[in-house]
This record gives sequence, structure tokens and C-alpha cells, in this order.
Amino acid sequence: MKQSSEKAFLQAARSLGIRVVSGEPLAKHTSFSIGGPAALYAIPGNVQNMVSCLKNAALCGIDTVILGNGSNVLFADSGFDGLVISTDEVRDCMIDRNRITAGCGFSLQRLCRQAADLSLSGLAFAFGIPARIGGATVMNAGAFGGSLDQVVSSVLCYDKGKDCTVEYRPCDLQYGYRDSIFLHDPSLAVLETTFTLTEGDKTSILNEMNGYMARRTASQPLDYPSAGSVFKRPKDNFAGKLIEESGLKGYRIGSAEVSAKHAGFIINTGNATASDVRDLIRHVRKTVFDKTGVLLECEIRQIGFPEEL
Ligand SMILES: Cc1cc2nc3c(=O)[nH]c(=O)nc-3n(C[C@H](O)[C@H](O)[C@H](O)COP(=O)(O)OP(=O)(O)OC[C@H]3O[C@@H](n4cnc5c(N)ncnc54)[C@H](O)[C@@H]3O)c2cc1C
Repeated sequence: MKQSSEKAFLQAARSLGIRVVSGEPLAKHTSFSIGGPAALYAIPGNVQNMVSCLKNAALCGIDTVILGNGSNVLFADSGFDGLVISTDEVRDCMIDRNRITAGCGFSLQRLCRQAADLSLSGLAFAFGIPARIGGATVMNAGAFGGSLDQVVSSVLCYDKGKDCTVEYRPCDLQYGYRDSIFLHDPSLAVLETTFTLTEGDKTSILNEMNGYMARRTASQPLDYPSAGSVFKRPKDNFAGKLIEESGLKGYRIGSAEVSAKHAGFIINTGNATASDVRDLIRHVRKTVFDKTGVLLECEIRQIGFPEEL
């Protein structure tokens, strides 16, 4: 990043009271515990300051990445030579009967608990998905037959290209399996998401949530850093099943390992690097393709590399 750009951005951020640090290790902010430093790392305290960060970065010619819980990202070992915007502090939440509007940094876990407390049903499937609302909205997070698009009724976005905020309706969001407009249009940032839920019975909602959590604990390697399922589910099949059938359970490169508990997960067994993980992804994709003819598609976002695998 050019020194003049960095200086101009820091000056603007300081005048707005936005906290920015230089050289923040991204490994501290990802569920993989992997990633080099961010040239700049900003923690805006609200939606307005988040928009200011995006606007000023654009004015200063600085590349930006927005970070939620960091549960679906792999940052390069060299880090990111731009501005990473943490959504940690953008976590307002408003409730209007069966509608909940949450800031992009609000925890998905907390939202599920809050909905259950209000006897609102529709989000139980999401209990246990480590995410902030922004990241979950972008990824169309889902599990056990449910996905966010079933309950999202609108998304307030900032469009960097047009320098304006826009409210997107479900028909604008191009939702598909782990897919949304946000994955194709990098000028869009999720500021807030509104969920419309239905009235239900608190005890059955809590039972459903606890049941899903028990299934996760039994089947996923939750005691190791990971980014969840590395690959998308191929048509009429499961990535984990194909990887297991290709004899790759427990296969390791450096400290990155195909989990022996759930072959769809790559775990960091100690000091895995982003290169270890990418080499392992390449090996898994090639082996599975050679043995089954299925080319696995990555679900995790890879940032700071010349290209995503
Ligand atoms: C143990 C484990 C289990 C998991 N299980 C599941 C599961 O069952 N189902 C599932 O779908 N996923 C699962 N995941 C993956 C992950 O939790 C989801 O993809 C989640 O939605 C990511 O949310 P996040 O806040 O961590 O996003 P991040 O990883 O921080 O970001 C994901 C992407 O969204 C972008 N982004 C984040 N916030 C914004 C914003 N406000 N505006 C614009 N772009 C933004 C980022 O730049 C990045 O490209 C699992 C992960 C782990 C570690």
C-alpha cells in the first residue's frame, strides 16, 4: 500500500474517531488461526463509521476486505496489503414483533438464542454456525435443510461503486446454495439484515436447536481450528463422503490435516500455514477428481492470493 494512501486514510479515520491499527495479525481473527498481517485493520463502532471506512478507503485507493467472524476465510501467510474492516462492533439489534434487524457484526448464535427467547421460529437450523450476520448473509449460511434465504426479508447494503445505501429485497439477493449477489459484486457491503420469523413454541425451538448442536458436536472436529466444510456439496453427493472414499481421511501436509472425524473439514493441528492448507486443498481436489470424476468447488474464501482455488 502506498504510504501516502495509508497516511490519508489514517488521518480521515482519526478525525472520525475510528480505531485503526497497522500490521494486525489476521490469524487472531480467523477460526483457522491462520493469516499474516493486515496493512490496516479498522474497527468501526457503528454502521455510519463502517460506511465512512469504505468511502475513505475508496477515495484513498485502498483495497478493502470486510471481516465477520472469520469462520469461512483463509488469509495468505503474507497477509492482506490493504484495509481489513472488522464488523465486531457493528452489532445493533432491533426487534419489531416477528421481525429482527441485526447489524452485520451481531453474532448469529446470539440471534438464534434471542429468537428462541421470543418464541420465534425459523432460525434453529443456524444454531452452531459460527458467524456474524454480515458473513452469514453473504454466504447464505445453512445446515440441516435450512438456509438464511428462508428467513431474510431485506438487507441494507452500502454500494461502494454508487456511493449510496440501498435496501435489497429477497428477489434482489440472487440467493442459491452458499451463494448470493455479495459473492459476485465486491462493491456491496452488508450493513444490516432483517429476518422475518414465525411464532412458535419456545420449548420445541430450544429442543430443535440443542438437537442440531449435539449433532455438530458428535460429527465435527470442533476442538481444532478450521473453517468448517472446505468444499461445497457437489450435486447429489457429499464432499466429505467423496474425500473419505478417496482414502484421504487424516491425510496431512505440514500441520494441515483432512479431519479424521469429518473428511469435509481441514483442520489446523498446530502451526499450519495458508500454503499448507492450499497445498492440501489442491491434493484433495486432484485425488478426488482422479478417483471419482467429481471436481470439488471450494466454499472457503481465499484472500490475499493471486487467485482462489
Ligand atoms: C466449525 C465450523 C462449522 C461451520 N458450519 C457451517 C455450517 O453448518 N453451515 C455453513 O453455511 N457454514 C458453516 N461454517 C462456515 C462459516 O461459519 C459460514 O460460512 C459463516 O456464514 C461465515 O460467517 P463469518 O461471519 O465468519 O464470515 P467471514 O468468514 O468473516 O466472511 C465470509 C465472507 O463474507 C465477507 N463478508 C463478511 N462480512 C461482510 C459484510 N458485512 N459485507 C460484505 N461482505 C462481508 C467476507 O469478506 C468473506 O468473503 C462453519 C465454520 C466452522 C469453523
